[in-house]
Amino acid sequence: MPVDRMTSNVLNILKYPDKRLREVAKPIEEDDYFGLSLIFAAMKNTLRIKGGVGLAATQVGIPLRLIVVAIENQPVHCLANPVITEYSEDTCTFTEGCLSVPYASYDKVRPRRVKVEHYDWILRETHTIMADGLLARVIQHEIDHLDGKLFIDELSPLKINMLQRAGKKREKRGH
Ligand code: ZN
Repeated sequence: MPVDRMTSNVLNILKYPDKRLREVAKPIEEDDYFGLSLIFAAMKNTLRIKGGVGLAATQVGIPLRLIVVAIENQPVHCLANPVITEYSEDTCTFTEGCLSVPYASYDKVRPRRVKVEHYDWILRETHTIMADGLLARVIQHEIDHLDGKLFIDELSPLKINMLQRAGKKREKRGH
């Protein structure tokens, strides 16, 4: 475990086009359990401070299959080795953004519901989540990070640049 990163409560978030965001994360194994609660605590705190709804370990330079999803008024999910085993056929559109791609947001289509299996590192067993709506969306977005994918990958570099510039202007205007 990269313990030196744990000394700070707020982790540094890698920004597009950092190549480390393209790394495919490795599954958690038995030997890794020891450090998990520390990593998850730091990831949760980072999310709270940065104001996001989801964070993948890849985004903080830890190439392990860990994600945290923290949606307002819902329980926080800390998932190790999450795998989507089923996607709904129906889709929905939502304006998506990412802490690793500052200012960029756009309407993205994704499956509305997913079935997710993950390893519960406290009980040491596999659990299943049936997710829909925002939870399903954030889980898909974060698992993409673990595979080295970003939500903007379907867009051209020119379009990404335009979105970031427009988002920056919007923020300057205060909304
Ligand atoms: Zn993201």
